Amino acid sequence: MIDGTLPPGSTIGILGGGQLGRMLAIAAARLGYRCHIFEPQIDCPASHVAQHTAAGYDDTAALDAFAKSVDVVTLEFENVPIAAVQRLAETVPVRPGASALAIAQDRVTEKSFLNKAGIETAPWAAVQSQSDLDTALQSIGLPGVLKTARLGYDGKGQATLRNAADATGAYEKLGSVPCVLEGFVDFALEISVLAARGLDGSIACFEPVENIHRDHILHRTLVPARIDATVAQRATQIATQTIEALDYIGLLAVEMFVCRDGRVLVNEMAPRPHNSGHWSIDGAATCQFEQTVRAICGLPLGDTTRISDCEMRNLIGDEANDWPEILAQPGARLHLYGKAESRPGRKMGHVTTLHRPALTERPSKSQS
Ligand code: AMP
Repeated sequence: MIDGTLPPGSTIGILGGGQLGRMLAIAAARLGYRCHIFEPQIDCPASHVAQHTAAGYDDTAALDAFAKSVDVVTLEFENVPIAAVQRLAETVPVRPGASALAIAQDRVTEKSFLNKAGIETAPWAAVQSQSDLDTALQSIGLPGVLKTARLGYDGKGQATLRNAADATGAYEKLGSVPCVLEGFVDFALEISVLAARGLDGSIACFEPVENIHRDHILHRTLVPARIDATVAQRATQIATQTIEALDYIGLLAVEMFVCRDGRVLVNEMAPRPHNSGHWSIDGAATCQFEQTVRAICGLPLGDTTRISDCEMRNLIGDEANDWPEILAQPGARLHLYGKAESRPGRKMGHVTTLHRPALTERPSKSQS
């Protein structure tokens, strides 16, 4: 057993109570762990399957009581205030820790960190005013993508600048907050690699998967990705290098662009389970949520082998109303998040379709 292992029966604290927390708690329960969620929102998806403290991240009394009730803390939402994480860390291990989280919360620190570690990103510049933007455009050029440094997700807090008119007033339109300007990457496709690092420093990566976005929101993940072995190896190496450089414990998602010339650039990273890893619940020997539990509790990391080619599709807004038809499809595995209210753009569930011949249709060993 690894030194510091938290055995089944221990309690995992999870910051954030969305669908990622819900699926993490389900995977933890299967291994005999209890979960306690800390999330301001009542009736959040994870609260249906785990103990829940509904309090704000600035409620120090609630944080202290939460820290005492759990054996380790992880997160399913990266925008938890660092002060809350630091306070918890005085009492209980927090994995991943505050320093990795601080890097991932801010696109400027994230890109600086990656570039310093020798990992390539799109060309970028920090922008703190319209005149910074005008200067940055001279070196980076158009088209470009202006993104708020913090708190952006699913395309929120970003603007594509195609021409000079788009750039006029763009800084103010994004709220006059610190931003980054990135060169527009004319990518062939987008991929992600999920890497886990355990308490003993061992690392296991899931294979790169291909992500197709619609309206800036992940629409489908294809497994395997349509990339060649060299690109796959490069992407896996980048994720490994990133998780090592962060001295990270837990699961890290690294989103990348594959350029038409085969170069692989990192777009961003997420210090938690990731939407592009949902396929692994049904399609891999160990799913990303179980892998998170294994990593943060000091268990041996699981086998990440794909057991079926598959496609994961998010059910956004009213698409989740199609559940009766989805249930009727052979090979379709439905996951609903228990959200009471459907809104346009809201992730309500996902469906993974397994493209695997049934056991009876596969040649037996003696025939092959
Ligand atoms: P992000 O919030 O950074 O993950 O961006 C959301 C999506 O916008 C990405 O998955 C890409 O499809 C697109 N995007 C972001 N940055 C760039 C870029 N520099 N060049 C081209 N497309 C981008």
